[in-house]
Amino acid sequence: MCAHRLSRNPHYPSVIVSESDGLRIAQIEYAIPQSFGIDTLNTFDANLHRAISKTYDFAAAIKTISDVKESAAHHRGGQPARNQPNDDPKLFHGKALTYYGRWTYKYEQAARKGAVGAILIHKTDMASYGWEVVRNSNSGEKSYLKLDGTPKLKAAAWIQLDVAGNLVKAAGLDLDKMMSDARSRDFKPVPLGVRLTAHITSKIRPFESNNVIAMLPGTDSKLKEEGVMYTAHYDHLGIRPDMPGDNIYNGAMDNGTGCGILLELARAYAQSAARPRRSIYFASVTAEEQGLLGSEYLGKHPPIPANKIQLDLNYDDVKPLGSPEEVQVAGAERTSFYPVVQSLATEFRFTIRPDARPEAGHFYRSDHFSMARVGIPAFSINEGMKFKHHDEAWGLAQDADYTKNHYHQPSDEYHPGMDYTSDAAMARFGFALGWEAANQSSQVTWKKGDEFEKARLGSQ
Ligand SMILES: [Zn+2]
Repeated sequence: MCAHRLSRNPHYPSVIVSESDGLRIAQIEYAIPQSFGIDTLNTFDANLHRAISKTYDFAAAIKTISDVKESAAHHRGGQPARNQPNDDPKLFHGKALTYYGRWTYKYEQAARKGAVGAILIHKTDMASYGWEVVRNSNSGEKSYLKLDGTPKLKAAAWIQLDVAGNLVKAAGLDLDKMMSDARSRDFKPVPLGVRLTAHITSKIRPFESNNVIAMLPGTDSKLKEEGVMYTAHYDHLGIRPDMPGDNIYNGAMDNGTGCGILLELARAYAQSAARPRRSIYFASVTAEEQGLLGSEYLGKHPPIPANKIQLDLNYDDVKPLGSPEEVQVAGAERTSFYPVVQSLATEFRFTIRPDARPEAGHFYRSDHFSMARVGIPAFSINEGMKFKHHDEAWGLAQDADYTKNHYHQPSDEYHPGMDYTSDAAMARFGFALGWEAANQSSQVTWKKGDEFEKARLGSQ
């Protein structure tokens, strides 16, 4: 569960550097206080102007986003989309958050539609995380992949709900009403008649980071051209020098656990007397916390063609909580591989726990998603909430405590009480899944009608 593809700053630079083989990432350094984030918009009163230079038209941005929604909806079958999927099961996946509801998609699509900038209104229940997460994930440097021709916004930001409310009020309108109106397919963009001036000085420094990939060749003369891939991100949030006290983001669980599992899987495969028919790829990917950048690059530049990759199994943040009795494999049910997942889960005595909060859109928040986008059947493997000697409430409490007190915080660090039985169990389970996928004769596909089916077929 590696959540936050929150871009670090409301300003997207127009120039991004570097090129060629290896993964290249340009990183942006801002010559402004680290805490700028969007909190500065709290001072929007002072920054409201009728129209001066270096402004962009907020109303125009809103309008474009609205057009975007319509376009996305047509793409999905002619129904107008909501800013956030509501519980109408006929629209998108009902309450489940699809990629179309993710903030990344909104920025991407606004840019494709020619918007100069966009401001998203942060609402905790819609985002499934609080403002703190937006702010923490968006202060300091922000990394971007070198521009690949994809349209980018010149400015992108979040705004707090009450600040947005005041802004809309200044225009003589009511935000609550507008948000509720926006749920109707008859909703039309409303000019706000206000302009927001924001000026950000930014500095760009190019740097390079690497995905590290190992390959174990398959034994079948033909099938060895194909592969099964394991992924786990090795980056975290680094050090925040301006923060007093412990300012090292260790990322022990997110994703030291996944890194350990990946290495152990590689060891187990390499030392196994038997070898799988297809080749196995172990990809330790970078810059996940910066927006799935390493895996995005990997998906766009796979070591073998994407259609030759049977399956991607991803590990991210497997908490060391003891002996798991459940497994989470959200997304697996969308693939032809699911019967194998089910039977192996039974063999391992795991109950498959359905995604408890589909509205949080976890499927779109870790590296397997980068693989799915290019058509590769992909999902993450993680434990559920029920552990041996504990009831489910205990597991849920651990999870809630982690999210609130440790997730993306310096306190995500090693302590002796950690019980890695769960990590070992998830590794063994993933080994079995990968082994089956590497040896079965048939190709793994997305189920008919799935949102990634088209990409899979297109890559063949
Ligand atoms: Zn993570």
